[in-house]
Amino acid sequence: MIPLSFAQQRLWFLHRLDGANATYNLPLALRLTGNVDDAALQLALGDLVSRHESLRTIFPDTDDEPQQIILPAEKADFVLERAQARQATLATQLAEAADHCFELTREIPFRAWLFRIDPQQHVLLLLCHHIASDGWSLAPLVRDLSVAYAARCQGKPPAWEPLPVQYADYTLWQRELLGDENDPDSTGGRQLAYWKQALADLPEQLELPTDRPRPPVSSYRGESIAFQLDAQLHQGLTALARQGGGSLFMVLQAALATLFTRLGAGTDIPLGCPIAGRTDEALNDLVGFFLNTLVLRTDTSGNPRFDELLQRVRETNLSAYEHQDLPFERLVEVLNPVRSMARHPLFQVTLVFQNNARASVELPGIETAFEPIAIHSAKVDLSFTLWEERNKQGGLNGISGRVEFSADLFDRSTVTWMLEHLKSVLRTVAAHPGTRLFQIPLPSPVSPATAAPARPRPTQPYTEFTRDDIEQSLTARFEAQVRRDPTAVAITHQDSSWSYADLDRKANGIANALCQRLGAGAGRVMLLFGHGAEMIAAMLGVLKAGKTYVPLDPLHPVERLRFMLADSEGEALICESALTALASSIGAQRDIPVFDPSTISPAERCAAQRDSRTPTYILYTSGTTGQPKGVVQIDRNVLHFIATYTNALHLSAGDRLTLFSSYGFDASVMDIYGALLNGASLHVLDLREAGFTRIREWLHRHQITVWHSTPTVFRLGAMGLHAQKASSTRLVVLGGEESTPADLDLLRKNFEPNCLLVNGYGPTESTVTVQFFADAQTNSNGMRLPIGHPVESTHIALLDPDGQPTDVFGELAICSDFIARGYLNRPGLTAERFVANPFGAPGSRMYRTGDLARWRPDGVLDFLGRADQQVKIRGFRIEPG
Ligand code: AMP
Ligand code: MG
Repeated sequence: MIPLSFAQQRLWFLHRLDGANATYNLPLALRLTGNVDDAALQLALGDLVSRHESLRTIFPDTDDEPQQIILPAEKADFVLERAQARQATLATQLAEAADHCFELTREIPFRAWLFRIDPQQHVLLLLCHHIASDGWSLAPLVRDLSVAYAARCQGKPPAWEPLPVQYADYTLWQRELLGDENDPDSTGGRQLAYWKQALADLPEQLELPTDRPRPPVSSYRGESIAFQLDAQLHQGLTALARQGGGSLFMVLQAALATLFTRLGAGTDIPLGCPIAGRTDEALNDLVGFFLNTLVLRTDTSGNPRFDELLQRVRETNLSAYEHQDLPFERLVEVLNPVRSMARHPLFQVTLVFQNNARASVELPGIETAFEPIAIHSAKVDLSFTLWEERNKQGGLNGISGRVEFSADLFDRSTVTWMLEHLKSVLRTVAAHPGTRLFQIPLPSPVSPATAAPARPRPTQPYTEFTRDDIEQSLTARFEAQVRRDPTAVAITHQDSSWSYADLDRKANGIANALCQRLGAGAGRVMLLFGHGAEMIAAMLGVLKAGKTYVPLDPLHPVERLRFMLADSEGEALICESALTALASSIGAQRDIPVFDPSTISPAERCAAQRDSRTPTYILYTSGTTGQPKGVVQIDRNVLHFIATYTNALHLSAGDRLTLFSSYGFDASVMDIYGALLNGASLHVLDLREAGFTRIREWLHRHQITVWHSTPTVFRLGAMGLHAQKASSTRLVVLGGEESTPADLDLLRKNFEPNCLLVNGYGPTESTVTVQFFADAQTNSNGMRLPIGHPVESTHIALLDPDGQPTDVFGELAICSDFIARGYLNRPGLTAERFVANPFGAPGSRMYRTGDLARWRPDGVLDFLGRADQQVKIRGFRIEPG
């Protein structure tokens, strides 16, 4: 009984698991111009099958150890299939034939077709299953074909020396060479120990910028794209390899690792790289599966210079080559990574550099040329194959390449985009090998202008905010709305509603009380209310008194409230009567005056100074690490934000907006001022109180036009809709956390077709939202909803791990005149996160968010996670604030 080699075992196992399929087919097509002696060709191919046992081997089904059975030459039943073809249909015919599914249990793993186009034009397709062949086998295969055909044309059998060994001999040798793995001194034992250590803690999966989520079971469908690097670049890269004492392959490997790191795949990049595996000269003339795959792992961490990276690659590879005998398949068994039908184990990208002898065919009286075959399968996510072109004198004449990609994961355009980036990396490092990884320029995406989002239809004609509008105060703008239509509904809560005039008089009363007790102008007043309309009157009252409010959410932990109270140094607290006990427990009653709004009567406006630079509020960010940080925003920043919100989404007096968010978060700023500065109405609903089941009735009763919430609330709320569509809603704005394509599905199911989904992104420091994505419908890919485009007067920069501007992927930084001054009482942290804007006028600033983001090829931005969490993006560490 002849066992299988380790490599064969894996294919045999896959064959049993998936059934016969074309994934591991190796096709080779030759165009033959001239007189083809078709009978001689048939005999010559028969000669190949008798010469190479591997080509007449079958792998019977068995529940025991798998084995190979070599059929006697006369029983191998090889036939050359003949078919008529037209030039127009040839490509399809070739692809179809190359998709033949070998039934390895009973069929030999080799077939051939002769397509006749006309008497002088034929295409010969040779198809091997990988279990019997590999890339290095092509040279002996076509060389033997040349010899046999020449002989058969003269009516003779080929006069070649019989092969000294056969593939079956190799399978036995392989086991002998490796010895007993359990013996640490055996080759197998030593190499296994090496690889275990070299691949310790390898990431399970390389996070590539895919267009779709990975299906649970790979379909192995694929496509390929060809590319070229010119002779000059070829020479440059070769010189770079020589300078570094490495090989051209190492340069290509380092460039590919650079590419993936730059696209956000992290800094630990494993690539699968085939090597010939023909460690004995006697094997060179055989057709068979000798190839072994090394997992070459590149560490790109620390933003090194490319030439430094090349040295890392060189060291890793040299020691990997010394341990190249251990079969990859054996390694997988031993390392036993989490098994998945969705991805290739240990690596998902391969790099093949073909520096083996090009197969050359010479058939008497016939001119031959290789005929391209379209590939429709992909064994891994991405597979890069490159080979050198030489001119007649042997000089470097360019590098040709082909990338095969999984159609499950990628669109063709995305792979083309990655190739453009790869070329850019190669061109830069050939000219400037000392460039740091993140400083290599990458082509920019298409300009955001061409990718601009669709604008939603307004409910009524809306009025654009102008540049002048943002130079007033919030109260001036609000009061203009009161004068415009005092009877319009400003707020509804539970069963009551207030007109603009009602709200204004309540706010005036509070302003008067504050001015009397504290004096008009500058000062901070804390607010402690439940979710409702009263607190909005109090906010406006504080603003009207020329002061700054600090909202305290009673549902926040007492510790946090106590901290905020002390940190913000407010001069008073306005507290609804039901919450006075809480107010004392956080220390308010003792230290500062407390106002009960129910004892204050509505009044006319008192005179207090307020302008666009007056601080509006202090909001505390949740502070995932350490203490909450107080962010101070001025009226101008809030007005600018509401201006962009209004102008981008066409808010008008006809809109009815939700208020779900706690006023302790800046999401509420969008709703409160989005409504009140546009003469629209704000509809307050406490979901924690009302529950999600009532939401459908509520939406309908209030004829909500703009829904704004976190995705989490949206998901729970949409469940309450029971698939009855919310007919009045024209906009769903989600923000504060990641939205997913599933949210878009929910929207489609529960809202009218003309309702737009908007993904709003922004930290409190940048005043609510700096990015709007208003066209999820057309731009969503299967992976995530992008965070879109920066609003007007805002520039988005991406920073590398050293804080320098970089392209395509990095830490998201916001350059704008409308970001916060900084953090209250935190000069050190402020200096760290609010830095000089390298793109702007002197004195202008930029806020570093600590979020990671990536531009898409079509010019929209994706949010990829927090840099300090390191969950999604390994190795891109930014110290948490
Ligand atoms: P906050 O300052 O509390 O508003 O939190 C801002 C942070 O929430 C951002 O820095 C992001 O990490 C996250 N975030 C806000 N909006 C989004 C969004 N649309 N998608 C993903 N993350 C978001
Ligand atoms: Mg926010």
